[in-house]
Amino acid sequence: MQKKAFNQGLLDYLQQSPTPFHATSNLADILSDEGFKVLDETQGWQLNPGKYFVTRNQSSIIAFVLGTDDPVETGIRMSGAHTDSPCLKVKPRPETYQQGYLQLGVEVYGGVLLNPWYDRDLSLAGRVTYQSDDKKIHNLLINFVDPIAIVPSLAIHLDREANKSRSVNPQKDIPPILMQSDKETIEALLKAQIRNEHPETSVSKILGYELSFYDTNPAATIGLKQEFIAGARLDNLLSCYVGMQSLLNADPGVSSLVVCNDHEEVGSASSSGAQGPFLKDVLSRMIPDPESRLRTIARSLLVSTDNAHGIHPNYSDRHDANHGPILNKGPVIKINANQRYATNSETEGYFSFLCENGEIPYQKFINRTDMACGSTIGPITAKEIGIRTLDVGVPTFAMHSIRELAGSDDAYYLFNALSVFFADQGPLGSV
Ligand SMILES: [Zn+2]
Repeated sequence: MQKKAFNQGLLDYLQQSPTPFHATSNLADILSDEGFKVLDETQGWQLNPGKYFVTRNQSSIIAFVLGTDDPVETGIRMSGAHTDSPCLKVKPRPETYQQGYLQLGVEVYGGVLLNPWYDRDLSLAGRVTYQSDDKKIHNLLINFVDPIAIVPSLAIHLDREANKSRSVNPQKDIPPILMQSDKETIEALLKAQIRNEHPETSVSKILGYELSFYDTNPAATIGLKQEFIAGARLDNLLSCYVGMQSLLNADPGVSSLVVCNDHEEVGSASSSGAQGPFLKDVLSRMIPDPESRLRTIARSLLVSTDNAHGIHPNYSDRHDANHGPILNKGPVIKINANQRYATNSETEGYFSFLCENGEIPYQKFINRTDMACGSTIGPITAKEIGIRTLDVGVPTFAMHSIRELAGSDDAYYLFNALSVFFADQGPLGSV
């Protein structure tokens, strides 16, 4: 696939995936179209060599190719990413009426950079759980698509210090305005939206929901020479998309797997998060015999993909001078002596070797020694599964902003690297 078509697919995926539920559903559609068979966790699995996927909580997904060669001999080539992104989530009883405006109270999900949420044309999407007329409980996904809300800034005339010291109180300052009304309810709005989007359903009562606001400004290629991709949720839907597209090219002889977990931005401790048992459960059903499974894992390797911080020209002192990733110079191997990243010299060597042979540029990152380092699913999955792991990701600016920035070459470089990884037929012994 050529870079332009690849990037267009990525932009479309970002736009169609405002929540982890939509991100998972869209990946499932891609996999189904490519002949992957859906598995149900509540049913027995009879697995033969072939292509499969399974979802959990509608927000995490594992896809795998069970190779014709014995995985005990070949190991499983794995890649991981996360489906969630920092955002504003609607409270259970969110309505507030002030000065004739209906606003919805929000919780802050993950490490949101709050200031960029002002003055954006926001929409709302997520999962709704409801009771139907025949007294059954159902889930469905909704997406208002249109801009239906906004958080207007306070004018500078009313806060002369705004450019020096404006901070955001998430309880008081950030609830978006939906409309001018003193009586409209979230229940009525959701029922109307469900009728619009899913006319075949009969909703008697809304029982619960997980809805988040998002910016309707579509992801785009920007820059004088189209050097950049700007969009929401590049962290980490970019890696989810790259991982799944790479798996489509996997060699059918050897086994490979992509896991995309929810809840990374809030610590990964959930039934569907990387600190939960989802991957472990799927591996135990792929390879039921415990000894064979342990031998397979010992031969396997996980490439944990999550974005890295590019060195920002206006803030270059925030990086170690020798470890400042540049946009469009390739995927970044992330290393941390304190295991905030799971990369070790062996996995670093493996990925470097793979990039060198594929003529794919790559970079290396460590945090400044006097600054705290972020983390990701790599170390958590390594701990849960006991698998050799590498942390890698494309360099970006503005991580956790409502609009992030990546290089327009880097997703494609990472796609090429993971495609080589999944097409590699040799045993994953020590390098
Ligand atoms: Zn991330």
